[in-house]
Amino acid sequence: MVGCVPVGGGAPVAVQSMTCTRTGDAAATLAQVRALVAAGCELVRVSLPTAEEAPAFARLVREAPAPIIADIHYDWRLALAAIDAGAAGIRINPGTMAEKHVREIVRAAAGPAEVPVAIRIGVNAGSLPRDLRERAEREPAAALVEAALRWAARFDEWDFSAYKLSVKSSSVPVTLEAYRLLAARTDAPLHVGVTEAGTVWSGTIKSAVGIGALLAEGIGDTVRVSLTGDPVEEVRVAWKILAALDLRRRGPEVISCPTCGRTEVDIVGLAEEVERRLAGDAALAGSVITVAVMGCRVNGPEEARHADYGIAAGAGEGVLFDHGERVEALPEGQLVDALLARIRAAGA
Ligand code: SF4
Repeated sequence: MVGCVPVGGGAPVAVQSMTCTRTGDAAATLAQVRALVAAGCELVRVSLPTAEEAPAFARLVREAPAPIIADIHYDWRLALAAIDAGAAGIRINPGTMAEKHVREIVRAAAGPAEVPVAIRIGVNAGSLPRDLRERAEREPAAALVEAALRWAARFDEWDFSAYKLSVKSSSVPVTLEAYRLLAARTDAPLHVGVTEAGTVWSGTIKSAVGIGALLAEGIGDTVRVSLTGDPVEEVRVAWKILAALDLRRRGPEVISCPTCGRTEVDIVGLAEEVERRLAGDAALAGSVITVAVMGCRVNGPEEARHADYGIAAGAGEGVLFDHGERVEALPEGQLVDALLARIRAAGA
């Protein structure tokens, strides 16, 4: 459990993201946490870079509508401060700390509480133990996995099982190999992602390929899409990856035709408008309907019939479908409004 969110053990794959505001600015960070949660983020990671920001972090923990995970680098005392502040989880790279300090963190995380503070053991190539560095030159994935498993063994010795592992890389092939190796050797929950994936456009593609391939193989219990951009986009992309694999759905899915020489209307504009208005309707956030937007009278009606709702548009007009039934023909300008009104009226 990370707070109230189960991770691993057959639980649904949980969606994570990370704030990019200054943690010391509690109001701004809380606003971003709320925006992330509204988009479907279930676990929110927040950096705790200095002790001065601990009071703001504690406020976040108290007021945030989702479990907060502290992101800790190097300074083990900040991990203790985060645990003191009530963090649901902490993410550490134990390779950057002395083992005796990692032990202190684990002791504090185990605590007296019924639900321990979860710890992510996040290994990366920059902090491998000396004896694995040479191997990392030849076998980067295997070296990451070895380092992660050594720490997992330590945690097991310390009788602490509330941990998950990550072995991210900015290389998709290395990420795939590392997680496959890791999954073959441990039952611990895995946090999956491609790190430093890039800007929203290119990072989305790298993440979809890397995370998607792993999830398709049943590897991964929680995901974070790392994008250089608004973290809300990370959450949206993560949900799209889960939906594409039919693992989880959140909100309506739009199917739209790629357009071709038969298209007689602005199907790109229509599809974008439908997607934007559906995504912006908070009442539909829990809906799992499929909506088709098709561009002609040849293939369009058939495809639209297979969706929960659909429109098949022709020259200046189109037909509205509701669960396979043709409802009515309408002028092009009225199609989207009629479609949305019908979906809302059904409370889908
Ligand atoms: Fe072309 Fe019609 Fe297919 Fe769209 S639905 S790609 S317009 S044939």
